Amino acid sequence: MYVDAHTHLEQFEDKIGDAINKMEKDKIMSVACSMNPGSYEYSKKFAEGKDLIIPAFGIHPWEAHKFVDDLDVFDSCIMESQLIGEIGLDFYWITNNKFYSYQRKVFEYMLSRCQRYEKSPNMHTKGAESEILEYLMRYEIKNPIIHWYSGPRDVFEKLVDRGCYFTIGVDVYNSKITRDLVKSLPKDKILTETDGPDALKWINGKRGYPSEIKKVVREISILLNMDEEEIKSQIYDNLTKILSQSK
Ligand SMILES: [Zn+2]
Repeated sequence: MYVDAHTHLEQFEDKIGDAINKMEKDKIMSVACSMNPGSYEYSKKFAEGKDLIIPAFGIHPWEAHKFVDDLDVFDSCIMESQLIGEIGLDFYWITNNKFYSYQRKVFEYMLSRCQRYEKSPNMHTKGAESEILEYLMRYEIKNPIIHWYSGPRDVFEKLVDRGCYFTIGVDVYNSKITRDLVKSLPKDKILTETDGPDALKWINGKRGYPSEIKKVVREISILLNMDEEEIKSQIYDNLTKILSQSK
């Protein structure tokens, strides 16, 4: 079984049927992260009756300002959702700092609920890596997952010490930072991700399908000089462990 620990189903738009067929054909266990409550409902609808798709409730930092005033209404979604995401902070793509206080408020609410309900969060950390680390030192969070990390090396090392998992994605062929992460991560902390079909556009201008994950796993096996099946099953064991410990 392959693992796509961070995807976005709504980005497939009219190709959602094809995408789900590919997940089933290639046996890709997929965590369907949400940007907002609407995208969570969308993921839930397509995950129904499919063990391969795990819908995750989250409020993305880009959307935080829309939901900041009434957060308690989301407690029931958080309780029912096995994993949480996408949540986090973004001080890089969001340049207007008037939005940062909203991001912090939503992120802190989500983290406090992850602690209370023993959920593992899938986190966006762009440009806010040190601050995310500070939050993780303050909250007792089980199995935190860091998505597409591109921050400073010293913060990465502290996040590893804190027990974080890292999702390795479609830039593993050409990003030195990502390639270095793969080589330095403990094997039991590696996960793989596509970040949905749109992420590949950043790399080669084309939308990707869930089967991109096969190439990511192959590249990781080359970087680690490991048998492809061995690292594939290690990554699956890593996700299974998180799921088994998430209430
Ligand atoms: Zn994402």
